[in-house]
Amino acid sequence: MHSVFDARRFLIPFRSSLLPQIFTDTLVIGGGVAGLRAAISAAQHGEVIVLAKGDFKHTNTAWAQGGVATVLDPADTIESHVQDTLVAGADACDESIVRLVVEQGPRRIEEMFSWGMRVDRDQGGRVMLGREGGHAAHRIIHAGGDATGAEVQRVLLERVKQTAGIRVFANCFALDLITPNDSEGSPVMGAITHHPKFGLQMIWARSTILAAGGSGVLFRETTNPPQATADGLAMAYRAGATLADMAYMQFHPTTLYLAGASRSLITEAIRGAGAYLLDEAKNRFMIGVHPMAELAPRDIVSQAIVRQLARQGGGKVYLDCRHIAGINERFLGFAELLQKFDLNAQTDLIPIHPAAHYMVGGVKTDASARTNVPGLLAAGEVASTGLHGANRLASNSLLEGLVFGAIAGEAAADGWNGARSLPRPGPVSIVSDIRPSDRGELDLTDVRSSLRSAMWKNVGIERTGAKLQGVAEMIDFWGRYTLDKIFDEPFGWETQNMLLVGAVMARAALWREESRGCHLRLDFPNRRPEFAKQDIWGKSRKVSG
Ligand SMILES: Cc1cc2nc3c(=O)[nH]c(=O)nc-3n(C[C@H](O)[C@H](O)[C@H](O)COP(=O)(O)OP(=O)(O)OC[C@H]3O[C@@H](n4cnc5c(N)ncnc54)[C@H](O)[C@@H]3O)c2cc1C
Repeated sequence: MHSVFDARRFLIPFRSSLLPQIFTDTLVIGGGVAGLRAAISAAQHGEVIVLAKGDFKHTNTAWAQGGVATVLDPADTIESHVQDTLVAGADACDESIVRLVVEQGPRRIEEMFSWGMRVDRDQGGRVMLGREGGHAAHRIIHAGGDATGAEVQRVLLERVKQTAGIRVFANCFALDLITPNDSEGSPVMGAITHHPKFGLQMIWARSTILAAGGSGVLFRETTNPPQATADGLAMAYRAGATLADMAYMQFHPTTLYLAGASRSLITEAIRGAGAYLLDEAKNRFMIGVHPMAELAPRDIVSQAIVRQLARQGGGKVYLDCRHIAGINERFLGFAELLQKFDLNAQTDLIPIHPAAHYMVGGVKTDASARTNVPGLLAAGEVASTGLHGANRLASNSLLEGLVFGAIAGEAAADGWNGARSLPRPGPVSIVSDIRPSDRGELDLTDVRSSLRSAMWKNVGIERTGAKLQGVAEMIDFWGRYTLDKIFDEPFGWETQNMLLVGAVMARAALWREESRGCHLRLDFPNRRPEFAKQDIWGKSRKVSG
């Protein structure tokens, strides 16, 4: 077990007895695919509160485009999906978890259909199945061409609203998980939250499901929405949970790369439909790099783009869809995005660049979504279940959110001591005493943007020991005068969370002296069997090993 600087237990000072108290059976932190699906299952066993720090439409889930991978075609097999996932994961997946998710996938998708999910179908009403990088078969269900995530979010949110016993709190920021004390094994009993209107509140629960999503905002270039600031990972770490595989951040190869445009993702399904990647001289450069050419796994394509840019001394690389009939009609969101910049995929080359996309590592869980901390479960992008190994296969994450969301919701029926009969925790007296720092004011925006630039340059697609060592020391330094401050609004708390998780990521990438999956070390270019195991991270004073 490794650790980084000793983060204090709570972000803010408080006395629990002086705050408003709310009680429930299950608290779900996060309102994306994993959190909403978890809430629906947990509601079968008791009352649920599900909260999101913004509104329930702004999630990574709602931004997902390409689709959900699952075996629906009679010509496809579970075994083929399992093998594709294992190959993408670069010998680092937990095969039993891969089988569990792939096997349960079709059932979870049929359930979504029964709840009203509308997906693209052919004229005979058969579900149309797309193909994406790393998949040997057509098995990606999609909605509105490239608006699958929004449909998943809509259906689950509707279902949550129709399910008795679920309370939905929007704009409710979870600062920290609450434990009665800071000793190892102390159970999580809910969270301390902040709402702009109601202020700080203690939410007590028998079980807490962390489904707070990803960490893309840690990097200057990212496909993620602004709320993906790694809060879930940071609060879990502070509560004593183990984080695993933190070196593995997946970079998406194709985001729109235009001055002034946000780094909008261009879905892999477009390469699945036959789009090419061209270099500055307009030649396809993926041929010869990988047998699947443009449909190689994402890490291979992202790394090839970076190498191509270096070879041609900068400049641009392009996505070429000009030969694909009806491209604008098939991918409406893509066409609309391009239109804003006076581009047309049918006639123009599209400049693209990789960007941070998916946090593969996360809070370590078992097959029941349980973490090492009693009472704390985790699901979705915040979790490290072992499904993805060292790299996520395209469209496996919405699937994982559905499968593990349901598993976590079921497991939440058992309280933190494993007993269904466990009463709700009463208000426990918790005192967080933090003295205000005497180190003066900070320009928080500057700290955040410096961190994001440093992460992109040094913990990005191509890494070296020297750069990682440098950035780890730099983050430690920024951490010393930022983590001792007390902030009273989300921007400050998020920045503190980003520093903590950035420190873990940089150290994990430094420790992993090999290249595997989405982790590329130029100074250790090969896979090394001694690093096949997970690297795990936790608070130093509570653990050993
Ligand atoms: C542009 C884009 C395209 C993608 N395309 C695909 C695809 O085609 N197929 C696929 O399988 N995957 C895709 N992914 C990945 C996939 O969308 C995510 O991995 C998945 O949706 C994560 O779901 P989640 O429920 O774990 O988290 P999210 O959907 O991100 O939800 C996180 C929730 O946690 C809440 N939260 C966070 N911090 C706090 C806090 N401190 N307090 C309270 N609430 C908090 C947020 O408000 C949000 O409600 C894509 C991702 C992006 C960004």
